[in-house]
Amino acid sequence: MPAEFPDFRLGSVLATSFTGTLSERHGEPVERIPTPRRLVDWLTVNGLAVDSCTAAQLDLARELRESIHATATAAAIGEPLSTSAVEVINGRSVQGRAAATLTPDRHRQWRLSSASCVEDALGVIAADAISIIAGERDGKLALCASPTCRAAFFDTSQSRSRKWCDMNTCGNRHKKARFHAKNAAENH
Ligand SMILES: [Zn+2]
Repeated sequence: MPAEFPDFRLGSVLATSFTGTLSERHGEPVERIPTPRRLVDWLTVNGLAVDSCTAAQLDLARELRESIHATATAAAIGEPLSTSAVEVINGRSVQGRAAATLTPDRHRQWRLSSASCVEDALGVIAADAISIIAGERDGKLALCASPTCRAAFFDTSQSRSRKWCDMNTCGNRHKKARFHAKNAAENH
């Protein structure tokens, strides 16, 4: 994996892992799918392997990503959803032709209609977003407490009190900042 590209953040919820490919939206944004090849890599890591991706397909992916981000954010804070963002999500969902299959060891595997069909993979992501935004799944949409992040994430913790989109990044940064502030205060 070329070192010049930022790593992916891995999460257990497909739609919000996908929106996490652009992070620090309110700070210095980090684009984790800067090229079509990186989208192919991301899809592979997330069980939606395609063998190629065009610049136009990457544009479709990013448009879907921002639409999911906008819609999930509005849902998390109880605001009306943007009609155009919802249209993008629905459009991608309708155009996807991926089929769920069951493996003998009881895993769900997506079968795309062709190996170059990024649109099928985006359809799966759109459907995942629909299920969490519609409240079909056990969990709650919330916004990351980091002021430079504010990513919408899906909280499946029992108490529904998770604060950070990702404990390893935003959560950890907060912990470190608190530690340094405390040490600085004690040294004065
Ligand atoms: Zn965050």
